[in-house]
Amino acid sequence: MSKKPTRKTIITKLDNIFSQYIRLRYSKNEISECVTCGKQDHWKKLQAGHFISRKHYATRFDEDNVQVQCSGCNVFRYGEQYLFSKYLGVDLSEELLMKSRKIQKFSDNELLEMIELYTKKVNNLLI
Ligand SMILES: [Zn+2]
Repeated sequence: MSKKPTRKTIITKLDNIFSQYIRLRYSKNEISECVTCGKQDHWKKLQAGHFISRKHYATRFDEDNVQVQCSGCNVFRYGEQYLFSKYLGVDLSEELLMKSRKIQKFSDNELLEMIELYTKKVNNLLI
């Protein structure tokens, strides 16, 4: 039996599988679209961008808070938060902002369950 994974390893794994799910969920023929500029590309070349920064755990793995973005928008244009908010709409943007301010502490088990859930979802999308 290998030793218990560290918290950091678990978070990284969940970030990765969650990102894959976000990029795949609306893809057609493996092509997804950046929500802030409309650029289309293979889902593997796109990124999962956070409307509210990843540092807020309450919204880090929220399916509304995380959407497909190209690297231009996500990295070079710092996430295009204004356009991101327009895409989400005022109500949802506000809701996510409120949610992000709450303190969310996931247990290791909760995180592992999310990894399992998103691994299944990704596998279903890849069939
Ligand atoms: Zn873009």
